[in-house]
Amino acid sequence: VFVCFEGGDGSGKSTQSKALAAWLEAEGYAVCLTFEPGDTQVGRTLRDIVLSPSTGELSDRTESLLYAADKAEHIRQVVQPALDRGEVVITDRYVDSMIAYQGVGRPLDRDEVEHVARWATHDLRPHLTVVLDLAPDHGLGRFAERDRIEGESVEFHERVRQAFLDLAGRDPDHYLVLDARLPVDVVAAAVAERVRPLLEQ
Ligand code: C5P
Repeated sequence: VFVCFEGGDGSGKSTQSKALAAWLEAEGYAVCLTFEPGDTQVGRTLRDIVLSPSTGELSDRTESLLYAADKAEHIRQVVQPALDRGEVVITDRYVDSMIAYQGVGRPLDRDEVEHVARWATHDLRPHLTVVLDLAPDHGLGRFAERDRIEGESVEFHERVRQAFLDLAGRDPDHYLVLDARLPVDVVAAAVAERVRPLLEQ
């Protein structure tokens, strides 16, 4: 079973992915908890390049290709092997982040970016994507220091938010949208309820 968490910065993805992993482990499932960008050796370098303010100017296409490279290694080294071992894979960000940030946030063609992201990941699709929805100013306010992307305009982050909601709206069978302002345990319970039937398939 392959589950993704998506949403804007500060929406609680890492808290919720950890909560889901803890619940699954308590239920006796083997879990692989991972994230993008940066959960492989080369991925850590790519993450530093793409996020560090000291990188300086980076074209939108270069940025997209770096994220795509991170994904390709992440799938090859982490996600697919864990699925092959029969583990439940939980990832904090995946293809939808690239569609939302690079395809819609940046002035690039959305469908072209989606194509590159799907190519990089062999079109491996999650069984469920949880979108933690939050108005951009809420999330960004939590960060004292901002990386290259968090420093983008509220309009950029609003486009990103809409992109996640559009993806969810097109494919409700594979998405769960939750209000990220709800209490942590309420969100976690809603996620668990939606994941439980997937485990029985
Ligand atoms: O989720 P995490 O905080 O680790 O993401 C790191 C940064 O990378 C965030 O600022 C996020 O907005 C950005 N990002 C991006 N495009 C992606 C994935 C992440 O701009 N495809």
